[in-house]
Amino acid sequence: MHADILVSSLMTSNVISTSSSAYLGDVIQSMIDNRYSCMVVVENGKPVGIVTERDIVRLMGVFISDRPQGPVRVANVMSVPVETVSEETTLFEALVISSAQKIRHLPVIDKSGRMVGLVTQSDLAKAHFKIYENQRDLIEQSVTQRTQELLQSNEELKSLSLVDGLTGLGNRRAMEVDLEHTHSQALRYNRSYSVALFDVDHFKLYNDCYGHKAGDSALRHISEYLQKSIRTCDRLYRYGGEEILLIMPETTLYGALILADRTLAGLADMNIPHEQSSFGCVTLSCGVASQVEVNGYEGWEDLVDLADRGLYASKNNGRNRATIIPPEDAVDDSVPRMHGPKQ
Ligand code: GH3
Ligand code: MG
Ligand code: MG
Repeated sequence: MHADILVSSLMTSNVISTSSSAYLGDVIQSMIDNRYSCMVVVENGKPVGIVTERDIVRLMGVFISDRPQGPVRVANVMSVPVETVSEETTLFEALVISSAQKIRHLPVIDKSGRMVGLVTQSDLAKAHFKIYENQRDLIEQSVTQRTQELLQSNEELKSLSLVDGLTGLGNRRAMEVDLEHTHSQALRYNRSYSVALFDVDHFKLYNDCYGHKAGDSALRHISEYLQKSIRTCDRLYRYGGEEILLIMPETTLYGALILADRTLAGLADMNIPHEQSSFGCVTLSCGVASQVEVNGYEGWEDLVDLADRGLYASKNNGRNRATIIPPEDAVDDSVPRMHGPKQ
């Protein structure tokens, strides 16, 4: 099954790497000679950066208008930090990481952080597709067999998916993988990131008034709108029924709040009618929380819990608003707590 396939069985093991003191010209030549689409920069066996074809194209643009004085070293141009996965990372997890962050090359590291291989997005996609096809064949074959087996195969097929069927956003399983990876990278490299938890206001009343189908359609419109309003590096997931989670890498609390406020105002401006709401249109409430660069939270669950508490405060204070709970208030027991996602 999918979950059992580890990236270590899909990776290329003998990867040629370079050092940060190497000349860019030599690295490009080596990439051309070996037909490599990237070169991992390694210090003491550990990946510290990466130079990809995409980086080189971007650099060409820079160099055309601003010609470098003398030879350029890899250290000055490589992409840092480099996203890595471990040997135990599953195919599903690696797929989520590479598609969420639009990364085509993932160095694979062992427990001591040393590079043991490289896996590409196309390796992952091919393996995923193969399993998907196998699973579908199995379902077709089992039509004549017991219903129980058919149901099981269907469940397994569903578990291969990264995407939520209704909204087209990432699904809950993919969200957890993305959060886990984003959080561990933030801790390792002392980076910040923020999450925003959105919840549709008075959505039960919307369903009651316009019908469940119209409710589904509204959820799709909201998702499309959110997808359009975020930055390319940000990621959206369906957290629960009418709750959506946004991950914003490299974003501080106040930056995230500005973005959330703008997003909420934009949706209200779309004026999707909701006659049962005092706003007269579909609105969202939001809670925002951030992982700070130093002394941040240990797990992403803490962050999502804080965002949940922010959301709860937004609901209590009239809805159609975003609330942040700054770290200094996070331990304050008078700040309301909500438990678990509402499904
Ligand atoms: P609040 O402003 O406090 O969030 O009120 P609310 O009515 O939105 O919250 P509540 O938790 O009471 O109800 C959530 C509703 O969302 C009820 C549920 O039927 C609806 N919902 C959840 N998922 C879906 C879905 O996929 N499609 C549709 N149409 N409705 C959904
Ligand atoms: Mg809800
Ligand atoms: Mg709601």
